[in-house]
Amino acid sequence: MSVPEYTAVRAGGRRSPRPVPVALPPPEHCEMCEEVRLSGSFATGPHRSAGFSRLVSRTRAVDVLSGLGSLLPGYVLVVPRRHTTSLGELSPADLAEAFAVGWRFAERIERELGHPVVMVEHGSSGTSGKGGSCITHSHLHIFPLSDVAHSPLFAAPGSRKISGLADLIDTAHRRKNYYFCTWKRDEGYLLSDPDLPSQYARRVWAGTLDAPDLWDWAAFPFLSNCQDTTDRLRDPNESETDRHMRETLLAYGVAAPTYAARTRRFTDGSTLPHEIADLARTTSGVVLDAGAGAGRDALCFAANGRRVIALDACLPLLTMTPDEPEVQRVTGDVRCLPLSNASVGAVWCSAVLLHLPPVELLRALREFHRVLESRGAVQVSVKEGEGHASLAMGGENPFRRHFFYYRHGDLIPLARAAGFDVQQSWTEEEADSSDDVQRWIKLRLRRTT
Ligand SMILES: [Zn+2]
Ligand SMILES: [Zn+2]
Repeated sequence: MSVPEYTAVRAGGRRSPRPVPVALPPPEHCEMCEEVRLSGSFATGPHRSAGFSRLVSRTRAVDVLSGLGSLLPGYVLVVPRRHTTSLGELSPADLAEAFAVGWRFAERIERELGHPVVMVEHGSSGTSGKGGSCITHSHLHIFPLSDVAHSPLFAAPGSRKISGLADLIDTAHRRKNYYFCTWKRDEGYLLSDPDLPSQYARRVWAGTLDAPDLWDWAAFPFLSNCQDTTDRLRDPNESETDRHMRETLLAYGVAAPTYAARTRRFTDGSTLPHEIADLARTTSGVVLDAGAGAGRDALCFAANGRRVIALDACLPLLTMTPDEPEVQRVTGDVRCLPLSNASVGAVWCSAVLLHLPPVELLRALREFHRVLESRGAVQVSVKEGEGHASLAMGGENPFRRHFFYYRHGDLIPLARAAGFDVQQSWTEEEADSSDDVQRWIKLRLRRTT
């Protein structure tokens, strides 16, 4: 690919961009941030369990997601992975990357799907109003068109012609909303302080497709077009680990109600309640239930008098956790915990790390070590065995869960490599969530430093 002509800071531009403003802190709850954090395993908005991941591609600074409200296949959003309310708030390097990725996809959509495109951003850096935006986490829409002649319709009345992206930075820096669209490299149309109806560009787009009433993405998501887009444009270079993780999370997400019902109670004769009580008795501080699923074990810790963070990467499953004041639900990946150093007293991670290959399992153990207070303890369990298996969830669920099996001899060196003292290791037979009796390897670890 050639270097994009659109760059954040153009030599010889009319204005030299001022320093990039410090982005406002993210709002307390941003669904787009969560969707990015969870690699698209649930969808922002009312269609949370879309049944597939919208993630098409990921670069250092941005995700490309197939767009909901997909009137035509090929509709995608370029979404910064860091929360900002407009692309103009990004660093010049990240802004350049967002547009470079956008143009790369524009070319692919035209070449592979046969549609010319228009790119639109409604930046929400203003202190009031939303400037025609549908969601405040910044995103660049890439609309596939039925006819290239429709492109100029997307320029909002009153826009001025600009070249380069410095004006976006400048407008964001002056804390103004803006509406920007472009269909040619190095030529765009910018309106600052726009007074536009919600989803303005989507209304224009729907009009060009003779579907003027279907502009609202939340009401008309066109999920099959959205999935088609993902299938046709997904990065062929997705790593095997990312694919395994994505499929496993989707399998749990689709099965969330049945899985939650099946794991609501401990199986008869389960040793887990005793092990939970023992970890609760021998530690202090907050307990992190890492991979909490539908919350059974977290509630058991709460019943033992402990405050619990119930963390899971599968939001549909986590939302099945019954309300309990001592249990705080947090979405996140065990390999990259959204917790500060030395912030918990114990980590419980039962039947979770079995979804990770050894390198990733080590990453998770290092994260547990990082977030644990000195002398804090961890209990982990995985299935005993060797190699990798992918197992269908059963029923109508199209996704497979991926399992990695371990032996004591594999697991103990990993625990030590993460900095833990192995206090106890044992093997036990117990039925898993599918009622199949498994041999489990369990380790009790302590942070000694
Ligand atoms: Zn966000
Ligand atoms: Zn939007």
